[in-house]
Amino acid sequence: MSHVAARTVPLVDLSRLDAAIFAQARETFERISRSGAFTFGDDLEAFEAEFADYCGAAHCIGVSDGTDALRLALVAMGVGPGCEVVTVSHTFVASVEAIAATGADPVFVDVDPGTRCMDPARLAAAITPRTAAIVPVHLYGRPAPMDEILAAAGDLPVLEDAAQAHGAELNGQRTGSIGTAAGFSFYPTKNLGAMGDGGAVVTDDPELAATVRSLRHHGADAADANRHLRPGSTARLDNLQAALLRLKLPHLDAWNDARRAAAKRYRVALDDLPVGLPPGDPDGGRHVYHLFVVEVEDRDRVRAGLRESEVGAAVHYPTPAHLQPAWRGLGCPAGSLPHTETAARRCLTLPIFPEITDSEIDRVVEVLAEVLS
Ligand SMILES: *Cc1c(COP(=O)(O)O)cnc(C)c1O
Repeated sequence: MSHVAARTVPLVDLSRLDAAIFAQARETFERISRSGAFTFGDDLEAFEAEFADYCGAAHCIGVSDGTDALRLALVAMGVGPGCEVVTVSHTFVASVEAIAATGADPVFVDVDPGTRCMDPARLAAAITPRTAAIVPVHLYGRPAPMDEILAAAGDLPVLEDAAQAHGAELNGQRTGSIGTAAGFSFYPTKNLGAMGDGGAVVTDDPELAATVRSLRHHGADAADANRHLRPGSTARLDNLQAALLRLKLPHLDAWNDARRAAAKRYRVALDDLPVGLPPGDPDGGRHVYHLFVVEVEDRDRVRAGLRESEVGAAVHYPTPAHLQPAWRGLGCPAGSLPHTETAARRCLTLPIFPEITDSEIDRVVEVLAEVLS
């Protein structure tokens, strides 16, 4: 690979994973396929212990994907029909789907344009007697302002949507150990990605953990698999995916450091351009740059210009949840979440992944400067 004259720059490139991990993955596939332990197994248990430990939480329950992680955690918190759950619209739509899947009504609050995350002041105003939980999103890998959110939430449970923020930190605590519980996704492009779908619920609460454990396996009783305590579903993390995640977890901090170094290079290089830079580390915290999202005027033209020069820019997310056909009925018409709508119009995601090279970053900035000139 040339590090001198990068031309085509992908948004993300999973094929650049360390060769050693690919070799270990082949051995792992061989080992698991011979063992026949495809659903429950030792690797699932070991990964759960290791990821709980990584997050600084007592419990981790591997589940099928990030959306189910959020859904099952909410159900375990007692969320269901008749409840309201407050979240943001400036997110991947799964945050909203997970709430609606419990039968509860999603309630949107606007983001703070400074953090791009839930505005704690607006959260306080959105809480009603029906509010059963709060779902802040650590958007793009930057921790939401959890101190203020937890203060506004009072006794209500707070579920971190940590799908983009494995290893991010606030006040010395990792995401997943800050709220009542957290939902993680191991979708392949996330900071910690499986080779397929996966997710996890992380919590310190033993009762909540036991309920999620039961829900992911047909509501079964831990002591008697033929006794079904509650309606559940098939929502387990595969033992094979858990084994693959165990190979990757020891590299997560180094990969996050590489993302942070890439972000730092972008910041310096973009300084003179008419581009809104993303917020950096929160005070005493650590941003893990799942995505590097800038803001520009005339975004669609800029994105098209980047793509014409083979720079893989993207938009996260062009249409906020409350303006999607699926969620328009929730009582938030266009104009009701102005900061969310402005962010959706201006946001532009530049390529970032642990293996991105300096020359690729420089090429992205060079093309962006041309397009903006
Ligand atoms: C990826 C993601 C999810 C959903 O995770 P899946 O594993 O794709 O179901 C939820 N919330 C956010 C913010 C995400 O980025």
